[in-house]
Amino acid sequence: MTLLAPAQTDLLDLTPEELTDALAALGHKPYRARQILAAVWRRLAGSFDEMTDMPQSLREELGRRYVIGAARVEEVARSEDVRTAKYLFALGDGAHIEAVAMREEGRLTACLSSQVGCAMGCAFCATATLGFTRNLTCGEMLAQALLISRLEARITNIVFMGMGEPLLNVPSLLKAVAALADPSRFGLGTRKITISTCGIIPGIEALAESAAPVRLALSLNSPFDDQRRELMPVSARYPLAEVLAACDAYTGRTGKPVLLEYVLLRGINTSPASARELVRIARRLDGKVNLIEYNPTQGLPFRAPETPETLRFRDLLMKEGVTVTIRFRRGRDIAAGCGQLAARRIGAARPPGGRP
Ligand code: SAH
Repeated sequence: MTLLAPAQTDLLDLTPEELTDALAALGHKPYRARQILAAVWRRLAGSFDEMTDMPQSLREELGRRYVIGAARVEEVARSEDVRTAKYLFALGDGAHIEAVAMREEGRLTACLSSQVGCAMGCAFCATATLGFTRNLTCGEMLAQALLISRLEARITNIVFMGMGEPLLNVPSLLKAVAALADPSRFGLGTRKITISTCGIIPGIEALAESAAPVRLALSLNSPFDDQRRELMPVSARYPLAEVLAACDAYTGRTGKPVLLEYVLLRGINTSPASARELVRIARRLDGKVNLIEYNPTQGLPFRAPETPETLRFRDLLMKEGVTVTIRFRRGRDIAAGCGQLAARRIGAARPPGGRP
C-alpha cells in the first residue's frame, strides 16, 4: 500500500455500492467492482498491477484514481519468541499509528488503532502522553488489517485495543466493522471482532443499535468509581454505575456479554477488596474478566505486579466462579504495549504536564 496523492481516493473508504457507482460513472460494468473487491479482500492485492484479470488500461486508470489503503509499514518489531509483531504505520499526513499481531494456537489476533493519539488521558497509558491528533478514516483502520494479513497470515480475530478510543470515532469505526464482517470482504464473524472502550456511553448505545453488533470490552481497571476517576478521567464524565447500566443494555440488546478488561497495577488495584468488588461487577454483567499485566511505560509512575500478586488476584476471582484470563506481558521486549512504539518514535513519552 502506498500513500495518497492529492487527486486520489482511498478505495478502502468506499462501500461496495459506492465503488460500483464510481466505476459506473467512469463507464465500467458492475462486475469490475466485484473483481476489484475479490482481489483486495480475497487475494489481498496491494496494488492494481496485481489485478491481472483486468485489462492493463483499466489497471492504470484505477491506479491514477485510487490507492488501496493510505498507510505504509514504517517499522516492524518482532518479539524474541516471534509470536508478537508490532507494526508502526505512516499515514498520508505523516502521522504514525501502530498495531500488534499476536499468534496463539492457530489464531492470529490483530490489535488495531482507531485514532492518532488519544484524548482520554488515562494516567497509566503511553498513548495518553501523545495527546489527541485526529480520528482515523475507515480506510486507515482497514489498511492495518490488510497489511498485517498480507505480511503475517490471515487474521482470525480483531480487537480495537490499539491507540485511541474507538467509540469516539463511531461513524468510521462502524464502516470499518461492516467491511471486516462482510462475507464478501474481510469476512470475519462478529464474534471475532471486539471493540474496547474506556466507557463512552453514547458510543456503547450506537454500537448496540448498529447493523453488526460485535463484541464489546470495557476497560474497567478499577471497580471503585473514585479510584477509577483518578486512573481514567473519562469516568468523571461517564460514571461507572451508568457505564455498567449501558453494558447491561448492550448485552440485553445483542445477546453478547461484555468482556471486562482489568490492567493490573502493582499496589493500586490488586487488593482483596478490589477483587471482591470486581467479582460483584463480573457477576452482574455475566462477563468474563481479562487481567492484563501492566506494561511499564517510561516516565509514568506505575509498575506491573510481581507474578504472585497477579496469581493471587486471579485466584480470588476464580474462587468466586468468575471466568478469568490473564494477558501476561508478551512482547515487552518490543514495547508492544498500547502506544509505546509510537511514543518512543515520536519521542513524546512523558507524563502529561511534564517538561517537553
Ligand atoms: N480506548 C480503548 C482502547 C485502547 S486501550 C480502551 O480504553 O479500552 C486498550 C487497553 O489497553 C485498555 O484496557 C487499557 O486499559 C490498556 N492499557 C493501556 N495502557 C496499558 C499498559 N501500559 N499496559 C497494559 N495495558 C494497558
